[in-house]
Amino acid sequence: MAVTAVYPGTFDPITNGHVDIAKRAASMFDRVYLAVAEDTAKQPILTLKERVSLAQTVLEDVPNVEVVSFSGLLVNFAIEKGARAFVRGLRAVTDFEYEMQLAGVNRELEPRLETVFIAASHEYQFISSSMVREIARLDGALGGFVHPVVEDALKEWRSR
Ligand code: ADP
Repeated sequence: MAVTAVYPGTFDPITNGHVDIAKRAASMFDRVYLAVAEDTAKQPILTLKERVSLAQTVLEDVPNVEVVSFSGLLVNFAIEKGARAFVRGLRAVTDFEYEMQLAGVNRELEPRLETVFIAASHEYQFISSSMVREIARLDGALGGFVHPVVEDALKEWRSR
């Protein structure tokens, strides 16, 4: 039986760290939905459409990753998609508390879904969307952190 996973996030914007996790998830699962959140407590700088379109471009060479957006409760979306698991990336201990809480809540809401944590590769440990946004705001070089199309989108955002 084909096993499907959902990799959810805000992806504001998608970074090389996210791409690494998505590709590694794609090597473990038959199908991975990279699910971009519409409803988020965070106030994204990029629109949902932009976040989805950048993720699609960056992951277009990975055939079993599909980029989609979702709104409402994540567990409902995952069940609708026939998923068995969530994928989340873990960087330092600072991610741990929040990620464990999220996994616990999702498990309580929907025990049929597991959360699988993938450890960040050491070269991407320190990359976060918030750092990338801050560097973009200050017009710094983003080459090592994001795909060139994301860099271009952030330049355009800066000029708005
Ligand atoms: P959210 O708003 O749901 O936290 P993000 O888009 O910030 O969404 O991140 C989605 C997931 O990707 C989270 O599990 C986060 O820990 C993980 N992640 C973010 N950056 C990296 C990175 N550099 N390496 C590995 N995992 C990462």
